[in-house]
Amino acid sequence: MYDAHRVKALIDKVEETLTTTYYVKGKQLKVGVDLGTAYIVMVVLDEDNKPVAAELRFASVLRDGVVVDYTGALTIVKELKAKLEKRLGVELIHAAIAMPPGTESSTRTHSYVVEGAGMEVTYVLDEPTAANNVLNIRDGVVVDIGGGTTGLAIFEDSKVTYVADEPTGGTHLSLVLAGNYKISLEEAEKIKTDSKRHREILPVVKPVVEKMAQIVKTHTKGYTIDTIYMCGGTCCLSGIEGVFEKAAGLTTVKPENPFLVTPTGIAMSCIPFMPVSLYQ
Ligand code: ATP
Repeated sequence: MYDAHRVKALIDKVEETLTTTYYVKGKQLKVGVDLGTAYIVMVVLDEDNKPVAAELRFASVLRDGVVVDYTGALTIVKELKAKLEKRLGVELIHAAIAMPPGTESSTRTHSYVVEGAGMEVTYVLDEPTAANNVLNIRDGVVVDIGGGTTGLAIFEDSKVTYVADEPTGGTHLSLVLAGNYKISLEEAEKIKTDSKRHREILPVVKPVVEKMAQIVKTHTKGYTIDTIYMCGGTCCLSGIEGVFEKAAGLTTVKPENPFLVTPTGIAMSCIPFMPVSLYQ
């Protein structure tokens, strides 16, 4: 069952591991690699799903969930892995990855990126299912709004019964902001991720958010769904849940930090491995 306090405690801890390492020797590890349109994130958990360490980097190496710059993606994953290994003093040998729904044909390329960086891909799942490893919902729709796409998965009795992914995401909000304020996309991105400006920008980006809600409404037609569970970086936008709830006509729940939900859920699916020390 979804428990807002449990999700918050877990994600807060993962956020802490971006700067603090919690590695207990002798424990097996699990690694999740999230190759996103806007960010590449690596999360390390222990065998009990306790957060150990995490690294992330802004990147433009994917479009609509598909790798378009293989070398760029490989360089970043290698770099994040090296940083984590240095922090932990062990070698990371296995990883799980996740694909946006509908991009399964690109699984090989995602795997090559991770394997090229020296990790065996031991599990592949879809992104909303990864998010639900953390959210743990039984019935409802998980909506993952990332940089390039809005992905959704309908859960009935804890099982995924329908998935979809549409190419409208956070980048589209930035484009609207850039056009409205006559600024560059980079500047728009900065304004968008500054929570102090969220109240000001919400009315500007509202039509795009309503479009995303419409996507969810269309895809959930015919299903007995009463709650939307939001995750993905774009859901960090304060007030997005209110716009969504009104436009989709469904109760909308948002964890306090929706950004690290999917990468954490990916790591949860990794087959645990006993790491080898780098210094013996
Ligand atoms: P995709 O899932 O589409 O492949 P991704 O995995 O990179 O992309 P996420 O990392 O979940 O997606 O989200 C990235 C998006 O979230 C970007 O558009 C980014 O600008 C936006 N974002 C990140 N932090 C915030 C914030 N604090 N406020 C608003 N938007 C944010």
